[in-house]
Amino acid sequence: MLGLMQDWQLTVDKILDHANASFPRREVVTRSVEGPISRTTYGNIYRRAKQVSNALRERGIKPGDRVATLAWNTERHLEAWYGAMGMGAVLHTVNPRLFPDQIAWIINHAEDKILFFDTTFAPIIEKIAPQLKTVTTYVALTDRDHLPKGTVPHFVAYEDFIHGHAQDAQWGGFDENTACGLCYTSGTTGDPKGVLYSHRSNLLQAMAANQSDVFGCGANDTVLPVVPMFHANAWAIAFVAPMCGAKLVMPGAKLDGPSVYELLETEKVTFTAAVPTVWLMLLNHLRETNSKLTTLKRVAIGGSAVPEAVLRAFEDDYGVEVIHAWGMTEMSPIGTIGKMLPESYAADRETQIKTKLKQGRAMFTVEMKIIDDAGVEKPHDGKAFGRLVVKGPSVARAYFKNAGARNEKGECLEADGYFDTGDVATIDPLGYMQITDRAKDVIKSGGEWISSIDIENFAVGAEGVACAAVIGVAHPKWDERPLLIIEPKPGAQPTRDQVLKYLDGKIAKWWMPDDVVLVEKIPLGATGKINKLALREQFKDYTLPSAQAAE
Ligand code: ADP
Repeated sequence: MLGLMQDWQLTVDKILDHANASFPRREVVTRSVEGPISRTTYGNIYRRAKQVSNALRERGIKPGDRVATLAWNTERHLEAWYGAMGMGAVLHTVNPRLFPDQIAWIINHAEDKILFFDTTFAPIIEKIAPQLKTVTTYVALTDRDHLPKGTVPHFVAYEDFIHGHAQDAQWGGFDENTACGLCYTSGTTGDPKGVLYSHRSNLLQAMAANQSDVFGCGANDTVLPVVPMFHANAWAIAFVAPMCGAKLVMPGAKLDGPSVYELLETEKVTFTAAVPTVWLMLLNHLRETNSKLTTLKRVAIGGSAVPEAVLRAFEDDYGVEVIHAWGMTEMSPIGTIGKMLPESYAADRETQIKTKLKQGRAMFTVEMKIIDDAGVEKPHDGKAFGRLVVKGPSVARAYFKNAGARNEKGECLEADGYFDTGDVATIDPLGYMQITDRAKDVIKSGGEWISSIDIENFAVGAEGVACAAVIGVAHPKWDERPLLIIEPKPGAQPTRDQVLKYLDGKIAKWWMPDDVVLVEKIPLGATGKINKLALREQFKDYTLPSAQAAE
């Protein structure tokens, strides 16, 4: 028997409809790419997004066509976003931090027809335009006066693009499972893969992300998403803020400490979100200028683990609550959230800190478990670690054009329908998950797993160590054994024995690195994470002393 309630498809155009109906005068403030701060409202954004839909239709864009943006967080990006999604086109956010050739590959793979771009990225467009096979129109997100002077034909200013179009347009009216957004994973292994969000998956993600124990925003909040819209939908904030009527502050191209600080204070921001590197820059600025955060209440941090120093600084020095979040592009992107349970509030401060450094508990709509290589579930005792697999309405089932398919249906799932996150984790009895490694970085010694991250976290505490990385190196008896690679602090020369002595008693005996080597610089990847691929390449012929002995 079916229920007797109304059919109301979960499509994201309804979010901006609601913002226009309920919060039309709520402000959206942008540090424009041209320079000045600009101010608009959800009501204006709604009307101009409708103009975008009409302009796209006039250019022949049909439902299902891909419309790309190469853009910062700004009000115009938001208009293009809802304008494309509202009419049933697919908004493809392209990450401008990728190499130009990768950007060209992704745009061709997605078969994008129209490309909206910020003028900052005009040099990239000029470089790759000859390679782009499907783009017919390049729209610079600016007015005619600021149009870049380049050699690419068909550059049109956004203000001219939408000018004269009606401020009303048909939105929605399609199935909630219709594709809505496209975002490629960074492709550190193989070609990038497209994650194709649906209206339903994005709308459910936004509702889940704004529960009170997740972001918990309301109409009295002012929200600054420093995390870019090209980074998995700005962690759903581009949907969450208009849905709840929060004032939205868009940082444009300037994500440095002083610029972010200025917006936090002048716009009276209460909630913000970004990766740890952004917060390191802000905290440095606060210390250098002896400044305070006078309105900020909560900061969401994710993308990589929250460093302990960042957690302590925000909470203890500046009185701002840290919300540790874990997720990935394939999860729309939030999976777990580090808000504390009553048991944790009752604990002493050092226990709280340990808990907050964990990646958090599954948000509603996310099911997760840890399994071994044979697929057997591991206990939630906070010690056993296994591959972290997830399920939910906002988790990818397949990649665009069936990339990385694992079954005949084109899906990228395990046999039991779970998605393998590629992370290795523990889950404790209270449900807090902690990442211990990326699956490809875990060291498999005699059939048991050693967490490279755990050893690294301790090793950076040893005297004279600036940065530490642990990789598995081939071993005739144990398959792999850990090699600890150290970048010393300037002028320091920590020895192998000193470092091993420091680790003694902190990690299990059989986790002890078999050797320690010093390097001038540990290579970092495009997102600032240690580039283990490069290290494994560099040390692929390395023979451990213990390996010689075993032979
Ligand atoms: P994002 O763009 O948010 O970094 P990606 O899909 O590119 O998402 O990368 C996701 C991966 O980033 C995760 O699988 C995990 O390895 C890592 N990650 C994300 N958040 C955290 C976190 N809070 N702590 C540790 N690792 C994290």
